[in-house]
Amino acid sequence: GNSIGVFTSGGDSQGMNAAVRAVVRMGFYLGCKVFFIREGYQGMVDGGENIVEATWSSVSGILQMGGTVIGSARCKEFRERNGRLIAAANLIERGIANLVVIGGDGSLTGANCFRQEWPGMLDELLQTGKITSQQREDHKHLNVVGLVGSIDNDFCGTDMTIGTDTALHRIIEAVDAIATTALRQVRAFVLEVMGRHCGYLALVGALATEADWVFIPEWPPEGDWRATLCNKLAAERGQGQRLNIILVAEGAIDENGKPITAEEVKQLLCDKMKIDTRVTVLGHVQRGGSPSAFDRILGSRMGAEAVLALMDAKPGTPACVISIEGNSTVRVPLMECVERTKEVQASMDKRNFDEAVRLRGKSFQN
Ligand code: ADP
Repeated sequence: GNSIGVFTSGGDSQGMNAAVRAVVRMGFYLGCKVFFIREGYQGMVDGGENIVEATWSSVSGILQMGGTVIGSARCKEFRERNGRLIAAANLIERGIANLVVIGGDGSLTGANCFRQEWPGMLDELLQTGKITSQQREDHKHLNVVGLVGSIDNDFCGTDMTIGTDTALHRIIEAVDAIATTALRQVRAFVLEVMGRHCGYLALVGALATEADWVFIPEWPPEGDWRATLCNKLAAERGQGQRLNIILVAEGAIDENGKPITAEEVKQLLCDKMKIDTRVTVLGHVQRGGSPSAFDRILGSRMGAEAVLALMDAKPGTPACVISIEGNSTVRVPLMECVERTKEVQASMDKRNFDEAVRLRGKSFQN
């Protein structure tokens, strides 16, 4: 059948609504039915009102909104085969054998696992009388396409993930606001931004805000960084600079792997330099607000391409992720992206930073 199920899963990010909207509109354009699966895998397992047919107007006016209007959740049952079996029956009942999953690496891994088990689960559902042999015949293969929603930009295989650009906007807005209040006084601000394994937000945020220093997980400061930092700030003060901005990624560490915290940096500036220093932890502000133009377009492009990829899928076509490489929308193998993303995390944990950065930048094209 040409019915598509679309859902958002795991942590939400700005631009997911644009992707959902594009899946619905492109689906209609190609003559498909599209179903919303509310609350991610939880809605798929629970069925009923959680799986509802989308209409043209049901996605009007959502592009501008942050978060995800169809809900997102984590789901224990879907981690077990039995939960996935119930989910499969719920999908087949509505004629759905095409899925667009919008989420992080966990959500994508779950979808791939589901796709691999699908034929076996259909046999089991037939044997237990939950589906007819005609239904099994009509839904033999589950096609899966993934879109990555993550503000950290920590996924391999795509230059940008949905939500990263908006999070950067939240960071620069916060720094700009702080800079205005601080102009009258001599001050320093230390901002903690998201990014446990990936310093993208901190690094790019620092470039865009004229920050004086940035701590990222991929590049622990060498040697006596405290002295180097204090000397640099003192030199800048000598040139007449009144405001200092320092960004610290959540996952920032020193040479020995010990976390570097915003609080610790603040203490250093207070004690050693006698600078009036404030800490701001941006936290969920970075996930908030309306999506940037970039994320609206990114979500829209990825959502439209996801439907095209589903319609091109033949029996045995592996699950893919829609990604941006250069300025092109491309399809890359889902499991290889997930596996490489895990390899990067493992390299980071082993503090093999060069390897992590190399793997993250490696193309999946050819
Ligand atoms: P994210 O997608 O943001 O990485 P999670 O890792 O929490 O978030 O995954 C979201 C949901 O995806 C989980 O609650 C679970 O239902 C499902 N999921 C994650 N990993 C698997 C897996 N290996 N097998 C089946 N389902 C999974």
